[in-house]
Amino acid sequence: MLDSYDVIVSGAGPSGSRAAFLCAQAGLSTALLERRQLPREKCCAGGLLARAEMRLGEQGRGLPFESGVEGLCIVMGGRTYIYRSGRELGRTVVRRDLDAHLVEQARKAGCHTRQATKAESVEETASEVLVRTESGSLRAKYLVLAEGASGGSASRLLGEYPRGSVINGAALFCRDRLSPGLATFLLPGGRPGIPELTEAGAGICAAFPMREGTVLSTISRQGSGRVLDALRSVAGRLSLEPCGEGCAHPIPTAMRPRLATRRCLAVGDCAGLASPFSGEGLTPALESAGLAAEAVISSVREGRPCLAHYDRALRSRAGRDQLLARLTGEAVRLAVKGGWAAPILAGLERDPYSIQAAAAVAAEEDGARRFLMRTLPRLPVTLAKGAR
Ligand SMILES: Cc1cc2nc3c(=O)[nH]c(=O)nc-3n(C[C@H](O)[C@H](O)[C@H](O)COP(=O)(O)OP(=O)(O)OC[C@H]3O[C@@H](n4cnc5c(N)ncnc54)[C@H](O)[C@@H]3O)c2cc1C
Repeated sequence: MLDSYDVIVSGAGPSGSRAAFLCAQAGLSTALLERRQLPREKCCAGGLLARAEMRLGEQGRGLPFESGVEGLCIVMGGRTYIYRSGRELGRTVVRRDLDAHLVEQARKAGCHTRQATKAESVEETASEVLVRTESGSLRAKYLVLAEGASGGSASRLLGEYPRGSVINGAALFCRDRLSPGLATFLLPGGRPGIPELTEAGAGICAAFPMREGTVLSTISRQGSGRVLDALRSVAGRLSLEPCGEGCAHPIPTAMRPRLATRRCLAVGDCAGLASPFSGEGLTPALESAGLAAEAVISSVREGRPCLAHYDRALRSRAGRDQLLARLTGEAVRLAVKGGWAAPILAGLERDPYSIQAAAAVAAEEDGARRFLMRTLPRLPVTLAKGAR
């Protein structure tokens, strides 16, 4: 006899374990499959924005954090700009610890977790989904695909990511601390800039504080070797000593042609939800997991599949966020190229209004659109203050 569940979740990253937790908590019989044994390493800078943490609800209770982030530090053209928000914008985590914690919470909620169990193939019929693993087959009414950027089954069922939308992310852990309590962003523009980043096709390098060190991270369309080389030379410029070689991993930044079939849906990186500006993927991973769990729970309760709403809801939210992220990236690029970035950054130091508005977005008290409506009209004031 096959093991049979209401829902199988394939992939125990944050999106998968969040969806599994919510389904199990709602009383659905739930299996969470993970191809690796936990705790496992995951290539990530570990920046968890306040709005991402909020989405974890009680599953996030007791999370092992590394450091709080209360402000930003921007380094450009040899100058350092510091903005303190007076509130916590987010925290940093080690992904090995975050992911293991979330899976353990899913298990405690009643989810059946199967580690070192890869979903080899998926077959969907009108009435169920069959998942084949090395140790046998499982069946379920619904399947949540949370396999990250590597999802072969997702490509077959939902189509490939749009061409050119998968970029490379790289991260390098360093022993020394850079700016405790601050997230530092290095912009390669200005003189003297950071030519290695520009040559590696990377726009911005982020440096996040950890309990005992710093994580450097960046995204680029170029090959991972080149991006990692750039991170190593940035570490050298900042006098940070790397621990190990660093890592690189693909980040999908645009959605697949479909996000759901009748009985399967994709969440997180598997759906293609990360920000094309920053590579931030934890917030949309957790948001999509919440929407996916809602869709599956109501389908099980109603006794018929109703996942189409998930596709529409996620596409409209994530599409809007990804468009704004693209526009923000373009605006930063133009500001650096056009020489306006320095007066804007100096103006922001004297006019903390926009920093408070950004802090409200990080805490999800405000949306990105309202942020733009509030801050863009103020740009001339900021520029004038910065030019003084
Ligand atoms: C260098 C780098 C830095 C980043 N920094 C940040 C950051 O600071 N903040 C942020 O918000 N985001 C960051 N991101 C993005 C973030 O890591 C991802 O968006 C996030 O991990 C997505 O979570 P997920 O659960 O969808 O997928 P994943 O975390 O990739 O989890 C997928 C899981 O599925 C498992 N799996 C895969 N295939 C199968 C299968 N067939 N069967 C069973 N299991 C399977 C994998 O082993 C894995 O455990 C970064 C990404 C990179 C590459």
